[in-house]
Amino acid sequence: MRLLKERIKKDGKALSKTVLKVDSFINHQVDIEIMEEIGKDFAEHFKDRGITKVFTIESSGIAPALMTAKYLDVPMLILKKQNSKILNDNVYQTRITSFTKGTTYELTLFADYIQPEDRVLLIDDFLANGEAAMGASRIIAESGAELVGVGILIEKSFQKGRKRLEDAGYYVYSQARIGRLDNGVIEFLSEDAPVMEGVEEKDLL
Ligand code: 5GP
Repeated sequence: MRLLKERIKKDGKALSKTVLKVDSFINHQVDIEIMEEIGKDFAEHFKDRGITKVFTIESSGIAPALMTAKYLDVPMLILKKQNSKILNDNVYQTRITSFTKGTTYELTLFADYIQPEDRVLLIDDFLANGEAAMGASRIIAESGAELVGVGILIEKSFQKGRKRLEDAGYYVYSQARIGRLDNGVIEFLSEDAPVMEGVEEKDLL
């Protein structure tokens, strides 16, 4: 998506070979106009997939997921990050390790908000190693619903997430694909460039 790539070039800050900061329009301050365009682009891309719900993971996925759900005219659901297992309740939970923080959390969804007939689109801000998206896919599969697409704003194509999701049979569309990052360097891949194998994290440091 041209608009997003231009904005990343202008305002994104590559801190290392692995981390891109986009705090000024996605992760801290949120640019509502670009979120609106992001939502329209996802809705257009996924409009023929019979989507009944848009899911995201708190917190940075919420703004683009909300706009996508608005343009698809379906409900939006937030998968919550809990510190611990919820016992005695009707919930789906799965453990995730956070890429940026190195911490773990329990991705959580109350069972009332998903039905086996749902066709779910998952939206998230970044795809790195695919931990969060694979976790969401486990929850959706456990409920009996179907994950029919994954929409990502920024895919770091040199990490493993895209390959993991595709190997698991999921359809992924990323609005901006980054082939290489380095201090002050951001290189994009084209939308239809082949999926990269994913570099070992130790080799990037
Ligand atoms: P994954 O679960 O794919 O390993 O990592 C994806 C999650 O980690 C995203 O939801 C995002 O919050 C965070 N993340 C991963 N890489 C980056 C990055 O380079 N910059 C920022 N701001 N967040 C990232």
